[in-house]
Amino acid sequence: MQAWNKISRMPAPAIKKMQDELLRKMLNEELAVRHPYYRTLFKDNNLDPAEIRGVEDLNKLPFTAKEDMLPREDDLRNPKKFVLEVPAAGEKKEKKKGLALFGKKDKGPDIDDYKLHTLYFSAGRTAKPVPFEYTHYDLNNLKEAGRRAFDILELTRDDTLINAFTYAPNAFFWQMFYSTIDIGSTALQTGGGKVLGMEKILKAMDNLEAPVFVCAPGYTLFALQTLDFFGFSAEELERIVLGIDYIPMEVVEKTKKLMTAVGAKDQKVQRMYFVSEAKSGWAECKPDYGYHTNPDHVLIEIVDPVSGAVLGEGEKGEVVVTHLDARGTVLLRCKTGDIATGGLVTEPCPNCKRTVPRIMGDIERKSMYYEMQGKEGPVHFNGNHLRKIMMAREDVLLWYVELNRDQSEDTLKVVLKGVSGTDEAALINSLEPELQNEFKLPVTIETSTLDAVANKIGLEKYITEQVIFDNRNH
Ligand SMILES: [Zn+2]
Repeated sequence: MQAWNKISRMPAPAIKKMQDELLRKMLNEELAVRHPYYRTLFKDNNLDPAEIRGVEDLNKLPFTAKEDMLPREDDLRNPKKFVLEVPAAGEKKEKKKGLALFGKKDKGPDIDDYKLHTLYFSAGRTAKPVPFEYTHYDLNNLKEAGRRAFDILELTRDDTLINAFTYAPNAFFWQMFYSTIDIGSTALQTGGGKVLGMEKILKAMDNLEAPVFVCAPGYTLFALQTLDFFGFSAEELERIVLGIDYIPMEVVEKTKKLMTAVGAKDQKVQRMYFVSEAKSGWAECKPDYGYHTNPDHVLIEIVDPVSGAVLGEGEKGEVVVTHLDARGTVLLRCKTGDIATGGLVTEPCPNCKRTVPRIMGDIERKSMYYEMQGKEGPVHFNGNHLRKIMMAREDVLLWYVELNRDQSEDTLKVVLKGVSGTDEAALINSLEPELQNEFKLPVTIETSTLDAVANKIGLEKYITEQVIFDNRNH
């Protein structure tokens, strides 16, 4: 592992050279030797990993899908096939030229790097959760990713922080936990709404006079909109770091507005993008400048979600992850199901000048693209867009949508709870035609109680709330 201050300033050709070298090493010295799934895949398809000379050859290898990794009825240990086997004691590498870039002595694999340390799971919003094995080696990389994210966010030990990410065995919560420990700041690990509940989180923010609040976007909006109700102050609040879930710029803007409304000292909002498959998360220095990735940990490709073709600089497509430096669970060309609307860019960041590849735009979930049946034929419904519209509204507190089938036509039913003091009848009157016009589908809107909506979406039950329910029989 090279020093971050060096990697983050490397010119693009040097980053590519480093990634080519790490990729060859991963393919030939790890995957082909001790990775049960890829070793077999290479053999069965007559693929010779030695022929992959660099990143541009990667498209000769097939993708991995989340489904490939799931436990199966006839094989509950299937996810284990994606875990590097522990090398036999005394295993020595063949005499090879050492990795010039790192100038290390080649002593053969360190067995301890391969031993299971902990399991983190994918958030499982749509599919079943997938287990990812982390060894001691991976945990060090996770901590390093956390350290780098805090460097990008410009957080220091003076920043007292409330971590309201949901406590769970996932990389999101734990990367944030390790970052705060590493930086040595005063931090309260609340465990999120699921563990501590809203009132106690807001009370802690008030009591600790914490300037930094770290939380998923939906829960953040809810917190800022209910602060008044609980009678707490947020006047020391300066910055909110959003992460885990969908955070379009409209949500950043709304968060800033709400921070002003609750009397926060400053209104700085930053975003993080966590990817279970990458085994870590990345930060933006400033909203809309892109998630600054770690090119020595993972290689990012942006591909056409349908054809699988690798796309060019800045083109919208699916985020695909290849591990360049991992033990435990290791993935090659794994499709994440996340669509980066601004693609990947490799030019230096115009704001912080760091040179690492950046993932741009909104991160949409492919699973929230629906094919619906309209009156005059199929209609493509982008649930991400509905989320953007609903989250950006200042009069909506909580909501969800049902996708229903009415005989031969599909319909949307939105159920919501307005912000306290909102004329809900007027809200329905204006929102119904707006949504109908936007999505070209019949829309009905109903209001409900705070408890009913909160329970339905699992506000304090799931890692992030679930707001789209597809009730159609497929
Ligand atoms: Zn930057």
